[in-house]
Amino acid sequence: MLDTAIIGGGPAGLAAGLYAVRGGGNVCLYEEMFAGGQIVKTHRIDNYPGISDGPDGYALAARFEEHAAAFGLKIEYGPVTELVLNEDPKHFMFNGERIEAKTVILATGASPKTLGIPGEKELTGHGVSYCATCDGAFYKNRTATVIGGGDTAISDALYLAKLCKKVYVVHRRDALRASAILADAALKTENIEFIWNSVPEAFLGEGKLSGIRLKNRVTGEVSELSTDGAFVAVGVVPRTELFAGQIALAENGSVITDEHMETSVKGVFAAGDVRNTPLRQVVTACADGAIAATYALEASRVK
Ligand code: NAP
Repeated sequence: MLDTAIIGGGPAGLAAGLYAVRGGGNVCLYEEMFAGGQIVKTHRIDNYPGISDGPDGYALAARFEEHAAAFGLKIEYGPVTELVLNEDPKHFMFNGERIEAKTVILATGASPKTLGIPGEKELTGHGVSYCATCDGAFYKNRTATVIGGGDTAISDALYLAKLCKKVYVVHRRDALRASAILADAALKTENIEFIWNSVPEAFLGEGKLSGIRLKNRVTGEVSELSTDGAFVAVGVVPRTELFAGQIALAENGSVITDEHMETSVKGVFAAGDVRNTPLRQVVTACADGAIAATYALEASRVK
């Protein structure tokens, strides 16, 4: 039986893994696809202390993974199913095998929020995207539009501005939520144009995106913006489907924890973007992971 099973291999899960193996636990990390989580979609990380050369998220994730593996963390790839948290031991199925663990750390992260407007589903992958780093190159020397005013939207706009002829940023207010350093850079970038106080009402095009119908929230005016690509960056939704109904969630759907990262179920911890946290950064995810691993191991030893 494992002391601690970690579910999810983003920064929170990998940091938890590093701390748990260094703490001498019998630990395994289960990752659905590939380690790194959302940072693999980030083209540059400038705010992780001690690493000032601005690596892309993929490179930083690889470093986290190598670091944890060097200290002996075992990582298994594939989906976890049938997770049961309310029994001791906790258990789940992985590759047809029942895995038992004294404690579990949920580090399942978050996925991009959708707008839920006409054309979004049909045109996703045909001009509508949720990942500028993955799909930006398709719009080289063309026009792209980013929707949102947070860190993701503005860093996406800055990234796209280097590739595209023109980048529009459509934001529902007239002030950005993004951190000042990103906002200032975007506001000074010549080929970025802001469309303030506006929300997309529909993605337009047959089989391929041709434009976005926008509504100005102040004047009520409706217009059509011609664009080759649209990047939706309007926030994230915590990924809790695997354990929905088993632990307490906040109103926004994220997992409630105490200061030891323990959830409403004894022996179950949560770390990173899945958690009800006021700041979603690589550094905070790693810190969550370190705390969760420390107290998960402690809990496993008193069981
Ligand atoms: P976010 O901070 O929640 O920002 C979402 C943006 O989308 C906001 O500007 C919001 O408008 C807008 N929005 C939300 N729902 C909308 C809707 N239905 N229609 C139109 N606009 C909508 O999300 P995020 O930018 O993805 O960032 C998530 C977390 O990751 C944050 O904690 C962020 O700091 C972090 N992050 C950090 C970095 C970095 O440090 N470099 C990079 C990426 C992400 P309002 O402003 O009006 O609410």
